Amino acid sequence: QSTEPWRDFNRSQVYTADLESALHYLLRVELATHNILKGEELKVFKDFVIVVAKLYPGGGSVVKLMETLSDWLLSLPLQQIPYQAILDLVDNKMRISGVFLGKELRWVSCQGSRAGLRGYPCSLWTLFHVLTVQHDAKPATLKNTGLESQAAPVLQVMRRYIRTFFGCELCGQHFEQAAAVSMDKVQNQEQQILWLWNQHNMVNYRLAGTLSDDPLFPKAPWPSPSLCPSCHEEKDGIHVWNQDNVLHFLRHHYGASNLSPKYSL
Ligand code: FAD
Repeated sequence: QSTEPWRDFNRSQVYTADLESALHYLLRVELATHNILKGEELKVFKDFVIVVAKLYPGGGSVVKLMETLSDWLLSLPLQQIPYQAILDLVDNKMRISGVFLGKELRWVSCQGSRAGLRGYPCSLWTLFHVLTVQHDAKPATLKNTGLESQAAPVLQVMRRYIRTFFGCELCGQHFEQAAAVSMDKVQNQEQQILWLWNQHNMVNYRLAGTLSDDPLFPKAPWPSPSLCPSCHEEKDGIHVWNQDNVLHFLRHHYGASNLSPKYSL
């Protein structure tokens, strides 16, 4: 049983507390396993920070933090950066200027019915879904970042992040296999949103009924008919997705106007 108090939430909303907790865990726990960032690791981390700084919705404290981090990383002529210097910037230097990231994890729509379930992986999916939708809403924001020439920059950054840093190595291998098969076929922002949705559902199918399944949140094709009735159709007795309606639903669900600040700092 989790010792955290249960936080009531609405399944049709996305919570900024989950996104902030994703970044908290990523910067303070996941990255901490790498003493020094250099070479490809440093490049992957920089690109991740740029994408979040440019595409994270709302322009609040998170964006300021990621912008400061990105400016700092880009200004350093160093070929390698100790992790401690990044942590020092996130924990101390930015705090002085009033820019900070919550000191604790607060899972809301990613909370599990007991410790060890859901949490960070759930929030990382959520973060990248939000970023794909935001890139579609504001494609010009990645101009002059070096990422603008790619058809699916958010997916490419996610692929490289997962491959390099994601703590679950087996997950990384599965994701890499899927990316190698079809990520290069993605040609625009709409396909980018749908590729990630489809890939996430593939993982849901594979994991349904396994130990990682939270009994309160069983893995199933998403969105459910109750969340999005028009996403589901039947052709010749077989279930099919209405992809236009799925895209419409994803743009709304992961869009800036559907983010709830409840439980956020
Ligand atoms: P999650 O699957 O984490 O989903 C989080 C939330 O996203 C859901 O509550 C729902 O609101 C929404 N959602 C669900 N499906 C979709 C969809 N198709 N599109 C958009 N939104 C959706 N675990 C393994 O055991 N093996 C693996 O190979 C593996 N690969 C992973 C690869 C990646 C890139 C990531 C980020 C995680 C992976 N995981 C894997 C972890 C696993 O997918 C879950 O994140 C974890 O088990 C927690 O599950 P959850 O119930 O919180 O729901």
